[in-house]
Amino acid sequence: MHFGDVWIGFQKGSEFLFGVVVNFHLTIELSLQCAQNGRRQDDIANGAESDDKDSGYGRHPGKSNRWGQTSDYFCAMSLIDTHSHIYLPQFDEDLDAMIARAREAGVTKIFLPNIDLDSIPLMHKLSDRYPELCYPMLGLHPCDVKENYIDVLNTMKPMFNDRKYIAVGEIGIDLYWDKTTLDIQIEAFKIQCAWAKALALPIVIHARDSFDEIFAVMDEIHDDKLFGVFHCFTGHADQAKKVMSYGNFLMGIGGVLTYEKSGLDVVAKDIPMEYLVLETDSPFLTPKPFRGKRNESSYVKFVAEKLATVKELSYDEVIGTTSQNALKIFRP
Ligand SMILES: [Zn+2]
Repeated sequence: MHFGDVWIGFQKGSEFLFGVVVNFHLTIELSLQCAQNGRRQDDIANGAESDDKDSGYGRHPGKSNRWGQTSDYFCAMSLIDTHSHIYLPQFDEDLDAMIARAREAGVTKIFLPNIDLDSIPLMHKLSDRYPELCYPMLGLHPCDVKENYIDVLNTMKPMFNDRKYIAVGEIGIDLYWDKTTLDIQIEAFKIQCAWAKALALPIVIHARDSFDEIFAVMDEIHDDKLFGVFHCFTGHADQAKKVMSYGNFLMGIGGVLTYEKSGLDVVAKDIPMEYLVLETDSPFLTPKPFRGKRNESSYVKFVAEKLATVKELSYDEVIGTTSQNALKIFRP
């Protein structure tokens, strides 16, 4: 049974069914993660992947030496980076070490949004190398919607038959870099939303300077079959309310939360935890204390720490809830 279907059931009032099935699903997911974490930590302990032990990366107070204790502890420490372009050439030099740092930080899943046709083989190569950690999506980024977008989409669409993708993404509208392509960005967004509905996959939305335009499209096409994440959410409180009003969309919180002047902390404080997932958008939008440097998936822990401060929750509560939220949307 696909989670999207379960969720739809919930919206129609099958609350009891939702609770049972979801808890069952999460139990399985988290048990699997626990088992995988245990294995991975064994590898790290044996020196297989720990070429950066003294760098200070991936350390959370009191965590490194607690691996291998109870499975409940593993579950509590499972971070999911729901949006990360770590297949890009910026990671060619230190890919394995970067992955080891992510695992040491407690990251158990990394979701890879696609960009264009050229990025697909890079993304496949990474997810083939780390099949139980890195999960690809497929879609055309709004900044890459050009005149030939129909050809590009026609090339991409049959690829969904060839392998598993966990989402249609990243897709959306970006008016920061180019306003002249708005019409075709809207068309490409609509076409890819239709794919997601037909495939029962979530969508991962990129919205930059374009909430009004995205919401206009969403108001037109949204139904029970359309669900997903507004990635790198940096909107105002009203925009957060609008996202929540769709009922089956979450907001991805990344490094911008750690930027003092962003005001995102004030907005995020009032968004219920059930609507939030964590992300890095690596190699971009690096959180403090590494702002200005290349971002990587291990840094998702800094976003989690900041969110814990903002929400006045424990670190474990934040990553437990956000990881569960991520697994309500994505089926890795
Ligand atoms: Zn992205």
